[in-house]
Amino acid sequence: MKLERELQYAQTLLKSAVHEGNVAVDATAGNGHDTLFLAQLVGDDGFVYAFDVQKQAVDATLHRLLDHALEHRALVLNDGHENVAKYVNKPVAGAIFNLGYLPGSDHEISTRPNTTIQALESLLKLLKVGGIIVLVIYHGHEGGKEERDEVIRFVSELPQKYIHVLRYEFLNQKNDPPFVIALEKVKEYPPKS
Ligand code: SAM
Repeated sequence: MKLERELQYAQTLLKSAVHEGNVAVDATAGNGHDTLFLAQLVGDDGFVYAFDVQKQAVDATLHRLLDHALEHRALVLNDGHENVAKYVNKPVAGAIFNLGYLPGSDHEISTRPNTTIQALESLLKLLKVGGIIVLVIYHGHEGGKEERDEVIRFVSELPQKYIHVLRYEFLNQKNDPPFVIALEKVKEYPPKS
């Protein structure tokens, strides 16, 4: 067995949780690679909600879906993932975040700690038991370390009885390689009182 690279491992995790007929979320659509991957997993009976604050990313994602004739399986929203609860009201089987900026575009338009954590809070409520949220954390850029640290602080405090939190990381690579954090809901959370 070979150790999977970060992006490959993120997809392996999504594949384990997202099946035909499910709802999935791409929280950072970018060039649409993950939106397409999720659209392939959910099949014609499922649905993907994809978010990006950049029009350029929304257009790129729509084009990628159109190229594969899968545009009917996704809604690509030009809005921030912190607003996910405005659009999604069904249980979510899997969600993915690629934190950082879109390569080749404005580096200023990067994900931010507050909005990332707001989106995580909403998605944790929407996530079904057995569902997974995957974050690929790029932290080499300006503001990246602050976001990394705040996200780690937030996920580390989630109660283990309800949410399992995994970190997958190569420890001997240079130049701030990305790493993966995965959250698996194992019990209804927040608990019903
Ligand atoms: N997954 C993408 C792909 O396959 O190409 C790469 C995503 S890129 C690292 C991060 C993206 O997050 C950028 O396209 C950026 O515009 C977007 N972004 C930044 N803040 C956001 C927010 N609050 N909500 C949604 N997307 C956001």
